[in-house]
Amino acid sequence: MPAKAPLKAVLLDRDGTVIKEKPGVYLGDPEKVRLYKNTFAAFKLFKKAGYKIFIVSNQSGIGRGYFSAADAAAVNARAAALLKKAAPVEAFYLCPHAPQERCRCRKPAPQMGLQIISKYKIDPRKSFVVGDKKSDIDFGRALGMGAVLVLTANGGAQRAKYKQELRADKITRDLLGAAKYILRSEASSL
Ligand SMILES: [Mg+2]
Ligand SMILES: [Zn+2]
Repeated sequence: MPAKAPLKAVLLDRDGTVIKEKPGVYLGDPEKVRLYKNTFAAFKLFKKAGYKIFIVSNQSGIGRGYFSAADAAAVNARAAALLKKAAPVEAFYLCPHAPQERCRCRKPAPQMGLQIISKYKIDPRKSFVVGDKKSDIDFGRALGMGAVLVLTANGGAQRAKYKQELRADKITRDLLGAAKYILRSEASSL
C-alpha cells in the first residue's frame, strides 16, 4: 500500500487571531471568550479545503501567575465549543511560561510546531501559520511554513513597529482574509 500523503495544516494563534483580544489583557476566563465575526467563516473554509486546524498559543499569563493552567484549558474548551459547528480544532498547544523562564516552547521557538508536524504527519510546505504578532510570523518561518499576519488586535501595531523586518508572506485584515489567501495560494501552486 502506498504511504499516506502527509497532511496539510493551519497553525493558528489564539488571542488576537481566532478570539478577540484587547492588547495587554490576559484572558483566563472562559465566560469572556468572543470570536471575531469572521472566525467562523474562516474555520469553515479551512475545513472545506481539508486543513487540519491547530491552535498554538503563548500563555505567559500562567507563568506570570495571572491565572492557572486549568483556566487556560477552560478558555480553550470554550473556544472549541464555539467553533465546533464550523470545524473541529484538532488540538491546542500552549506554552505556559513567562518570557524570563527562557523555555524552549514559547513562540517564535519552533518546538510546539515541530511536535505537531511529527505527531500528526503534517507537511510544513503545505501548511501555514496565522497570527497577529511578529513572533507568529517567525514561528512559521522557522517551521518552513507559510506565514500570514492578521491586522486584528496587535497586528497593525506590529506591522508599524517592524516594517520590513516582518517577513510575512501576506498581511490580511483578519482570519477570513488569511483563509482566502491560503486557499488561493494552494490553487496557484498546483
Ligand atoms: Mg496573538
Ligand atoms: Zn514555554
